[in-house]
Amino acid sequence: MRAGLILAGLLVLLSCGVATAQTPTKTTPYPGPARIIGTDGAGCIAGAVRLPDAAPGMQTIRQSRSTFWGHPDVIAALQDLAKRAQAAGLPDLYMNDISLPRGGPLQGIHASHQRGVDADVWLDVAGPHPVLPVAERDTIEPHTLVRPDGRGVDAAYWRKEHITLIRLAATEPGIDRVLVNPAIKQQLCQEVSGDRSWLRRVRPWYGHATHMHLHFKCPAGQSECVDQAPPPPGDGCDDTLAWWFQQLDKPAPKPTSPPPKPKPVILPAACQAIMAAP
Ligand SMILES: [Zn+2]
Repeated sequence: MRAGLILAGLLVLLSCGVATAQTPTKTTPYPGPARIIGTDGAGCIAGAVRLPDAAPGMQTIRQSRSTFWGHPDVIAALQDLAKRAQAAGLPDLYMNDISLPRGGPLQGIHASHQRGVDADVWLDVAGPHPVLPVAERDTIEPHTLVRPDGRGVDAAYWRKEHITLIRLAATEPGIDRVLVNPAIKQQLCQEVSGDRSWLRRVRPWYGHATHMHLHFKCPAGQSECVDQAPPPPGDGCDDTLAWWFQQLDKPAPKPTSPPPKPKPVILPAACQAIMAAP
């Protein structure tokens, strides 16, 4: 259990959890060369570029509620992943949140996604996915891959193509981790044969039953960008995975009254200057 708790602590900043900030949001990137500052839980980016609305093998979705800015290397890697998925016979990838034009917390949605190195890609491989007008892409709803009890994938929706997609993401150059629901990780542990080395980079986390969260390492030359510790050795199909299912057996914690307020995110001074610049 201790290993699981430590793991949970290490990964907490990577999750799509709640974060808050008082920083006003700019609608344009900070100009100049790409520069990533800070950590997953408190960081920003200058020189971000935007993922195209549509490119070979991919489409952005939910544009009215999402943001698609990232480090140029990460944006290129996402388009490379889309091309590899297309070559593998998968339908267009549905790309969702990356980061705000200058990064920082995405209010109310994600604790990470602050530095243009995180991207949500939906686990929707039921094609075809014809390129739709942007407005119609706003109404696409993914189906969860996980059973209501959280203990396994839903056989009615789970496909071999999901393995292909997650494997392609976990083997994309520059990737650090791919977060998926523990039930999805468990299914991979059971089904993947042959080369299992990529399973090390597929980590279990809360939610993530309809999408996977891609977390990239700090791109080369980004000395102000703080990397996570690498995933522990091995395929992760061990006690650290079992820990997640043990939690399902525990009674839900009693609600506190009033609920604790999330702590505001304090950005590094360099980020505050980037956020405040015109
Ligand atoms: Zn995410």
